[in-house]
Amino acid sequence: MRSPERITPGLAGAPTDVDLVVVGLGITGAGVALDAVTRGLSVLAVDAHDLAYGTSRWSSKLVHGGLRYLAKGQVGVAHESAVERGVLMEVTAPHLTRPMPVVVPLTSSVTRAQAALTSVGLRAGDALRRGARTAVETLPRPRRLSATETLALAPPLRPAGLRGGMLSWDGQLVDDARLVTTVARTAAAHGAVVRTRARVLGATGTEVRLRDELTGATTTVTARAVVNAAGVWAGELDDDVVLRPSRGTHLVLRADALPGLQVSVFAPVPGGTNRFVLVLPQPDGTVYVGLTDEPVDGPVPDVPEATEPEIGFLLDVVSACFARQLHRSDVVGAFAGLRPLLESGAGGSTADLSRKHAVLVGRSGVVTVVGGKLTTYRRMAQDAVDAALATPPAAGLAAGPCRTRALPLLGAAPRDRLAALEQPERLVRRYGTDAALVLADAVEVTGLAEDELLAPVAEGVAVTLAELVFGVTHEGAHDVADLLDRRTRVGLVPADRALAEPAARRALALVAGAAPGNR
Ligand SMILES: Cc1cc2nc3c(=O)[nH]c(=O)nc-3n(C[C@H](O)[C@H](O)[C@H](O)COP(=O)(O)OP(=O)(O)OC[C@H]3O[C@@H](n4cnc5c(N)ncnc54)[C@H](O)[C@@H]3O)c2cc1C
Repeated sequence: MRSPERITPGLAGAPTDVDLVVVGLGITGAGVALDAVTRGLSVLAVDAHDLAYGTSRWSSKLVHGGLRYLAKGQVGVAHESAVERGVLMEVTAPHLTRPMPVVVPLTSSVTRAQAALTSVGLRAGDALRRGARTAVETLPRPRRLSATETLALAPPLRPAGLRGGMLSWDGQLVDDARLVTTVARTAAAHGAVVRTRARVLGATGTEVRLRDELTGATTTVTARAVVNAAGVWAGELDDDVVLRPSRGTHLVLRADALPGLQVSVFAPVPGGTNRFVLVLPQPDGTVYVGLTDEPVDGPVPDVPEATEPEIGFLLDVVSACFARQLHRSDVVGAFAGLRPLLESGAGGSTADLSRKHAVLVGRSGVVTVVGGKLTTYRRMAQDAVDAALATPPAAGLAAGPCRTRALPLLGAAPRDRLAALEQPERLVRRYGTDAALVLADAVEVTGLAEDELLAPVAEGVAVTLAELVFGVTHEGAHDVADLLDRRTRVGLVPADRALAEPAARRALALVAGAAPGNR
């Protein structure tokens, strides 16, 4: 079952001279690897830890239409976001995205003027969709709801004082880390060499010094271009890039904390104008509640942590909007991610790069791409590779034009074809047409029966052994944390993670014990 799209940990056998090295395998670096390799360049893409180790796994898991940028007058950024949302949902990743209905409840704390403003905003959002040529079948038009309709869609809302609501549609990812893994695997399928546990210690425009984090061995790789996609750590590789991160926190609740909720709810922050806390039901029986925006000083942590005041703020806003008072004990998990804010220089102020992305060519020749969104990763990658190809010595390379706009990721298919697949719904939702490959691979590697491979690994934990085995054989998972915290997201609920741990160990042992040709 060896297939070309394997991702492996460490640097054994990696090339020492390539056209382009990508540093970082969050969504940005994975996107750059895919863009570059499909233009015909030889690519080595590395991450110090694992795929999606950084900010990319701590997002709200939305595919944004750009409405927020429009509100700030950034029409170009808003249009770009809407275009990229359409590309993801209709061409490159229909399997990993779904239309998400959103209700804004008109509670007693929302004034008529605020409601009118929200309505204008939603109509503008629909204009963005039309401008991006995204079909109304993909994202239906927004509309006003009566109080009865609002409660039918979102039964746990507080009925007292509810005047009605507004229904609109945006895109939702099945999971952010799954998108990163799929983009990385697609890049590898096209010939990119993708390695985790490979840290870049230093970089210039033509050379990177690497350490294999499995063996400690260091090596130098020469290249015609080096792209720094290290996210909030980008400044560590190029002194010209100075970032000041800001933390965004989400809570994880069980679905039964807000029973019957079928839609996302944007809960108005009392006293705020156009500020909302997002309540986002997930397909796995959890609900995410986010998010905050807190400046972070000092060294950038590997894994940021939610603070108690942030948790309290989110619980208070949601409790004001829903009938049931939420308590700290309803919080079964919490996660935080860091937005990269670029230091603008003058007076220590920051420019919020989480809205738009920047491509900077440093004095060392390293091309840094930072900021943006998961939603816009494809465009960011295109711009970064264009910049690399315009910078000597890569300017001399024969590279084709960007191809990714019309390039479906592995497993992608139109929605009607996905709906007709016979494999279990969970596998189709996470692997698309590759669901059959996931199961066939697990059967071949382990020799176990399909029933055992497809059973939930523990009571109330929907993850299957088949997924865990595939994570090891095809997606570069090296240890329990890779499997539970990134290939699957069971780690977002620590109690579930503990239940799933034996299965992750078993998957690693099964693959290690398989005949070499089957690993
Ligand atoms: C709270 C929050 C919510 C968000 N929600 C959304 C959303 O709903 N939708 C959306 O579109 N966007 C969202 N975003 C934005 C989006 O998550 C980020 O823009 C995106 O994930 C950044 O990805 P990245 O690849 O640039 O960085 P990262 O994901 O941080 O990747 C950088 C990688 O570089 C690696 N690395 C660092 N140093 C080295 C080194 N020396 N050698 C090798 N590797 C190295 C790290 O291990 C890491 O894996 C959100 C952001 C935040 C903070």
